[in-house]
Amino acid sequence: MKKIAVVGSGVMGRGIAYVSALSGFNVHVNDIHSEALDKAKDYIQKELNKSTDRGFIQQKDAEQAMHQMTFSTDVKECVQDADLVIEAALEKMDVKVKVFKELDELCPESTILATNTSTMSPTEIGAQTSRPDKVIAMHFFNPVHKMKLIELIKGLDTSEQTVQTVKEVGEQLNKETVEVNEFPGFVTSRMNCLIGNEAMNLLMEGVASARDIDKAMKLGLNHPMGPLELADLVGLDTRLRNMEYLHQTLGEKYRPCPLLSKYVKAGKLGRKTGSGFYQYE
Ligand code: NAD
Repeated sequence: MKKIAVVGSGVMGRGIAYVSALSGFNVHVNDIHSEALDKAKDYIQKELNKSTDRGFIQQKDAEQAMHQMTFSTDVKECVQDADLVIEAALEKMDVKVKVFKELDELCPESTILATNTSTMSPTEIGAQTSRPDKVIAMHFFNPVHKMKLIELIKGLDTSEQTVQTVKEVGEQLNKETVEVNEFPGFVTSRMNCLIGNEAMNLLMEGVASARDIDKAMKLGLNHPMGPLELADLVGLDTRLRNMEYLHQTLGEKYRPCPLLSKYVKAGKLGRKTGSGFYQYE
């Protein structure tokens, strides 16, 4: 494994690209929007500068990482010689299906196709390709360079060899992995979405302020981040899509809080738009 292509350069794609390049992979980053690629490149450069300034990495490693990355809206150019493609596009099944059909046509037969979905079925995604044995979910966490885990979810036909190969990639990225059997929301999103949704219900019902709900969870229950600040970090549009999928597949317990839908309608998507449950510079 030498070449990784990342499809979708938003919050997660840019982080996966950053960590992969720093770990020595050649990384081709693709997005349908050139502005998203420009933002991703800018974000990665800033993160590399921060890490260099703080002495976490050396200047020459930062330069090498940047040198190992390309950014293009041409998906063929990005994926045609990739050993592994990691898709981090929108959390919508029709988008993922379209992307995977295209990847299946453009990539060499040996290429492993991974999705960074938070909730969805790698079996359903893999079934759209001629290589369901080489399709797997690699669920990274946000921010990718700080979070230690990758949750690996096997589809019905995912081969053991594919699991082993992506585990080794995980080790090269200096991450821990857990293997999870396929079920909507896996382990982490199923739990986390429910906690976040309940925090939003508490806020909507006027039980406490956003700041006090988060403070209570951090100081009383030892969560490193409050559920509302975490939702702002994830992106409220992405969180709403996660909830809608879980509601559809797991039932009533996962009905998205109306306040979440209202924020998304208002374009208040959290950190990425500067406003969500909190305001950002
Ligand atoms: P995002 O909205 O920040 O970025 C998505 C990017 O995908 C955008 O730049 C968009 O232009 C691009 N895109 C859309 N369609 C595309 C296509 N057909 N080809 C190429 N690029 C395309 O979303 P995100 O938060 O990075 O989430 C991406 C995926 O990662 C989702 O499946 C999400 O559930 C999952 N995820 C998100 C988080 C999180 O904290 N945000 C954590 C874990 C997993």
